[in-house]
Amino acid sequence: MVATRVLCTLGARILWQRSTLLHHNTFVRTMSNITKSQVESSPDQSLYNFSQEELMIKETVARFGKEKVEPFVKEMEEDRKFKPEIQQAIFDQGWMGIEIPTEFGGSGSNFFSCIVAIEEASKVDSAFGGFIDLQNTVVNPFFIKLANDNQKQTYLPKLAQNMVGSFCLSEPTSGRITTFIVDRGTEGMRIGKREEKLGLKASSTCQVHFDDCKIPAKNILGQLGHGYKYAISMLNEGRIGIAAQIFFVCQMVGVSQGCFDRTIPYTKERKQFGQRIFDFQGMQHQISTIATRIEAARLLTYNAARLRDANKPFIKQAAMAKFYASELAGQVTSKCIDWMGGLGFSTDYPQEKYFRDCKVGTIYEGTSNMQLNTIAKYIENEY
Ligand SMILES: Cc1cc2nc3c(=O)[nH]c(=O)nc-3n(C[C@H](O)[C@H](O)[C@H](O)COP(=O)(O)OP(=O)(O)OC[C@H]3O[C@@H](n4cnc5c(N)ncnc54)[C@H](O)[C@@H]3O)c2cc1C
Repeated sequence: MVATRVLCTLGARILWQRSTLLHHNTFVRTMSNITKSQVESSPDQSLYNFSQEELMIKETVARFGKEKVEPFVKEMEEDRKFKPEIQQAIFDQGWMGIEIPTEFGGSGSNFFSCIVAIEEASKVDSAFGGFIDLQNTVVNPFFIKLANDNQKQTYLPKLAQNMVGSFCLSEPTSGRITTFIVDRGTEGMRIGKREEKLGLKASSTCQVHFDDCKIPAKNILGQLGHGYKYAISMLNEGRIGIAAQIFFVCQMVGVSQGCFDRTIPYTKERKQFGQRIFDFQGMQHQISTIATRIEAARLLTYNAARLRDANKPFIKQAAMAKFYASELAGQVTSKCIDWMGGLGFSTDYPQEKYFRDCKVGTIYEGTSNMQLNTIAKYIENEY
């Protein structure tokens, strides 16, 4: 459509300068040929232009979420536990090793496939999205980028098939120096109590303690003493950390869209003062504003992800997407509660859970302030 419009505008300007009918007719014929053939051959430049593979994973995750996860979301939240059989089914689908090469039992797909998978999963449940998210975001990439051949052979097939990895970075004060692998059950390693949280209740969050833990040299990931360098170059500024942020962003886009999707039908059913609440102009303006912002958040996210897949600079765009989408999720879910009236405040309806689940988006994987710091650094360099 854009190509057609540009050509038509150009055509109109040149036509105006031509004087003879002959020229006019020839030009119109040529232009209409060019327009037709160019439009037919020009690729769809929209950010919604998914490959077959991306489309397939998007649809499969959405269907799986609807059929296998949604019926248990409330139960898992109450039990504070993600059902092990659903976890294994997610592994069996190949969604825990999306970027792990096929030679190690992974799906060998691209980054954007992870993005659409996490977005669809998060529409249904943040814990579902988060489960796919963390493994693909930080655990697997560390092994793919840093592990030696033996470590890859040992861990990547398990991570793709049935092992849930944990990524321990945040510390009470400053960080240590070496990146290493610790198997569950290693002497000196202790998993602390499950944190009681505002949201994401089906996803367990625990402190991990390492007291006089003896790590064999073969478990050092990368080079001895290079942990800080990896943290800075790969997490704070580099591909893994920023890629991880995009993952968390699409989780937030999914939460916003999921909550919105489950709210709008109610506004079309509920009647007050003799009409549907959707029909009040005051409601329509709010709904349209929120829908526009969700679209903007998704496009920021897809743009950053496409830049990353194309090996182009994407850090500033990713920080903007993380900042915008995670702040927005709070607004969207809050508005959805408002639009449901008193029911929105009830735990019988899903809006309050989306509202609680999304709060963490402005905190983990870089707080909103840290995203603004990153954006400011780029702006300073650009002017
Ligand atoms: C549900 C959940 C799951 C988590 N999972 C993991 C995990 O799997 N692995 C892991 O390693 N960690 C995990 N974390 C920890 C998480 O990454 C950190 O909480 C987060 O990065 C923020 O760090 P902090 O808590 O130390 O906050 P602080 O750094 O103490 O920040 C407190 C406040 O100060 C502001 N602030 C700090 N520095 C600056 C600055 N330079 N400029 C402006 N403002 C600043 C922050 O924006 C924030 O508002 C998890 C946290 C949660 C809540």
